[in-house]
Amino acid sequence: MPEKKKSSIKSWPVAKTLAVPTAVTAPAVKQPAADLSRVATEDLHREILVRLGEDLTRDGLALTPERVAKAQTYLTSGYQQDPAAILRGALFDVDYDEMVIVKDIEMYSLCEHHMLPFFGKVHIAYIPKGKVIGLSKLPRLVEVFARRLQVQERLTRQIADAIQEAIEPQGVAVVIEAKHLCMMMRGIEKQMSSTITSAMLGAFNKQSRTRQEFLTLLRKTSDSV
Ligand code: ZN
Repeated sequence: MPEKKKSSIKSWPVAKTLAVPTAVTAPAVKQPAADLSRVATEDLHREILVRLGEDLTRDGLALTPERVAKAQTYLTSGYQQDPAAILRGALFDVDYDEMVIVKDIEMYSLCEHHMLPFFGKVHIAYIPKGKVIGLSKLPRLVEVFARRLQVQERLTRQIADAIQEAIEPQGVAVVIEAKHLCMMMRGIEKQMSSTITSAMLGAFNKQSRTRQEFLTLLRKTSDSV
């Protein structure tokens, strides 16, 4: 860390009751004013409802804190699952080296910035090199990564990397088209716009013809999100 100039120490505004800061660093992660680690998750949600101006005695809200806690646990259950383990049980030796494409896999995730949903479709392609993945496992793989707090770019990349590591194919391509409620509900961007991200590894990255073939096949019959 660069040494602090003495003059900057003198000009630091210090209230009499506060200790003099010992170092000028970026603010650390905000700590809650009280130790909340022993408070039940439902009680935290109850507190949030009150702060939003809600009346906790309303019938409809009676079980809402419990429901929210349960829903959030479910929507982030991907943290408890190992993507490699899911694929491991479904790898098959094949003598096939043409492109495998699985399109329109439904995806629901939560953006890590607002914890609001983003959802859409995932398209996966790979060119095997001796091994393929059981087709039903690809939607499972998407789910494991989607049920975490995510950004769409990372989700795209993680799916591609997991396939790459599992079967080391000639190439992997993943495209995600998604709509983000944090944009739509907060009116930041055009309401119906969707975000498209892609990750291209191996042959899809190196050979524009391979990439083009995949993108053309996608366009042919893909419904928009
Ligand atoms: Zn967001």
